[in-house]
Amino acid sequence: MRRALRSGLSAAALLLAACASFSTGLTCVCQLCEKTNFTCKTEGACWTSVMLTNGRQEVIKACVSLPQLKAQIFCHSSKNIARTECCYTDFCNNVTIHLLPGQDTSDQAKLGPVELTVMITVPVCVLSVALMLTVYTCQSHHCRFRKKRRPNIEEPLSECNLVNPGKKLKDLIFDMTTSGSGSGLPLLVQRTIARTIVLQEIVGKGRFGEVWRGKWCGEDVAVKIFSSRDERSWFREAEIYQTIMLRHENILGFIAADNKDNGTWTQLWLVSEYYEQGSLFDYLNSNTVTADGMIKLTFSIASGLAHLHMEIVGTQGKPAISHRDLKSKNILVKKNETCAIADLGLAVKHDSVLNTIDIPQNPRVGTKRYMAPEILDDTMNMNIFESFKRADIYSLGLVYWEISRRCSVGGIVEEYQLPYYDVVPSDPSIEDMRKVVCEQKLRPNIPNQWQSCEALRVMGRIMRECWYTNGAARLTALRIKKTISQLCIREDSKA
Ligand code: ADP
Ligand code: MG
Repeated sequence: MRRALRSGLSAAALLLAACASFSTGLTCVCQLCEKTNFTCKTEGACWTSVMLTNGRQEVIKACVSLPQLKAQIFCHSSKNIARTECCYTDFCNNVTIHLLPGQDTSDQAKLGPVELTVMITVPVCVLSVALMLTVYTCQSHHCRFRKKRRPNIEEPLSECNLVNPGKKLKDLIFDMTTSGSGSGLPLLVQRTIARTIVLQEIVGKGRFGEVWRGKWCGEDVAVKIFSSRDERSWFREAEIYQTIMLRHENILGFIAADNKDNGTWTQLWLVSEYYEQGSLFDYLNSNTVTADGMIKLTFSIASGLAHLHMEIVGTQGKPAISHRDLKSKNILVKKNETCAIADLGLAVKHDSVLNTIDIPQNPRVGTKRYMAPEILDDTMNMNIFESFKRADIYSLGLVYWEISRRCSVGGIVEEYQLPYYDVVPSDPSIEDMRKVVCEQKLRPNIPNQWQSCEALRVMGRIMRECWYTNGAARLTALRIKKTISQLCIREDSKA
């Protein structure tokens, strides 16, 4: 399975590069282009690469499209595990390249004892002399250079110099997505980026392993690391994030997926934009918000969800997607105090032509505390895609309740609490939730003082209309977005 996914990933990457550029210009050798007699056409360059995989040098040949060429990631990279070359005449990549001496760390490249001793002792001696000289110079010059910028251990690796100087990840993604398929960076670029990230610290833990802050070319990125036993989840989440036209300012900015096999185990990475404020849950625990702040947060979540739920028709269209695990821990807060919906690992896509949902359904996924009544009592109609969206809206109402409680009205603000904190235990079972939500028909309390503030009054009304037992009666994300946008911010700040 792992092997199949891995080869699928590289095959898809090459086909993407090859097919995207199959127009006029150069003709190159392309290993995976069976249908076109193992050739591809491009206005960019012919490409050949050798990569060390499980101790073996694996050669790949394909086309590089013009935008990929402009990004300067593909050509002439030579790092420890890979080397790539581009050329510009017909079939010029019909050659075999090898890793440069010193790059190949495979078994074949093992050295004899004499060479090994020389290889180890010479650099050690040189380093020691250099160190002694440095110490001497430092003492005699009162360490003047200490005041200068120290070499930064987080400094980007050499590949960073290959990317256009001054280009930020955002620009790179924008260039590539607007010129390519609209679904993200080509997979080979993703791999190159992922393999030059330096992990810094753990910033979160969830269902699947850990989320780290990492550095890529001096920029912060988030790396979600899955264990190999969660390979399906990694694959699924990467697949969803790469849905055509999914990119939106209120949906986590996906950058790359990579599966690194070190011979013993596979490391599965999802790289995304990093938001230093962390999850909405963390944010609300340590911050209160003004009415303006609440409107900004809630509006941005509604915008992200409306985009996710919306189907865009056309060749560059996007299917409707339901999140299925909406909660404050799966929403991130950006620097500008707006939100991005994250953790799309459980999301499902709707195929409106066939009226089918893209994966086999297990209705009871997600977080029990946030499950809609129809999921808890198992009455949800799984054949209608709308049902999934309606269940998301119920969860959205709970997230809005968490935010609104932290909105300060006339100096009064409530402490942060999870929804249903007062009626279920800390790790509630489905049965605990069902009794409260379906049998007793309880919903989180909407405090009286919310009536004294226009923004909170509207939020309270929205919540009630998200929590109806009958899913069809609930508001849509688009409707909620419109209602919040109409809130008069000036009036709220007076309250
Ligand atoms: P899981 O699927 O394991 O639940 P999530 O994607 O929900 O993983 O991430 C778990 C936690 O990691 C989040 O609640 C958040 O605190 C943190 N986190 C995730 N992605 C980012 C990010 N891009 N920037 C900052 N923190 C993040
Ligand atoms: Mg999560």
